[in-house]
Amino acid sequence: MTAPKAWSYSALSTYVSVCTLKYFFRYVANLEPERSFSRMYFGLAIHAGLEAAYRAWKPDAPAPVGVAKKVFMDDLTIRLEDPMIEFKKGETPEGLLTEGMAVLDVWAKEARYEEIISTESEFTVPLVHPGTGEIFERGLKGWFDLVVKDPDTGEPVVVDFKTTARRFSGDKLEADLQIRVYSYAIRQLYGLDRANLRLDVLVRNKKPVFQRLEVSQDSEGDARLFELVRAAGRGVEAGVFWPNDGSIWCGGCPFTQACARWHDNPDALRSHSEK
Ligand code: SF4
Repeated sequence: MTAPKAWSYSALSTYVSVCTLKYFFRYVANLEPERSFSRMYFGLAIHAGLEAAYRAWKPDAPAPVGVAKKVFMDDLTIRLEDPMIEFKKGETPEGLLTEGMAVLDVWAKEARYEEIISTESEFTVPLVHPGTGEIFERGLKGWFDLVVKDPDTGEPVVVDFKTTARRFSGDKLEADLQIRVYSYAIRQLYGLDRANLRLDVLVRNKKPVFQRLEVSQDSEGDARLFELVRAAGRGVEAGVFWPNDGSIWCGGCPFTQACARWHDNPDALRSHSEK
């Protein structure tokens, strides 16, 4: 088995932070999900709405919330036709659509026009050890939701949209794996010493909240990221996968049936490893 040609943040975080067995099902065996979740679709539809709004936004104009709402509605309506979708208790398709409108209204009240460098831009960067100069054979890849220009410095600021059930804690942002990966990528792409990143978080409270969290990072954590990616690659190459039973991730895992059968034939994973 080979590790990915380039590691995305989501693949890396699935292997090192969520569950190695889930990584196997998703990225090695390429299993079809057994179920899907309304909260995931809601977040994707909000994301699509915000992206469309940013593309349509004109300088000195208010946030184009009408564009965001239309794209959100269309996107979620299609996704809700998925027969495998699981709703939370008391949740309905109509309720989700109404909630999305309220969430986007809160966003529109707080958001300000920013000069856009790119939306949904894909990146692939080599992974270089900052101390030894060693180049890891597999780099990092991913997508930035939005890159805007800092109005004071003109430097790029990477913005990531998040939709969550609770307020986001800014305490551990420095050590957050996604921040580390994106910080590394933007410094590589733009030749910067420091990367500026921002999380635009829409919190799905009864009364929705918009949070904006900012973080600036230099290369201090790059050696650790390099070794983390190397360790993950070694684990995958060696076929090392096990369940993270009882973790907070199991409730939202789309592979619970495959996981329940895992111990009946764990060597099935090894045969994948030897392909
Ligand atoms: S159900 Fe839990 S332990 Fe099993 S694959 Fe999913 S996340 Fe891992």
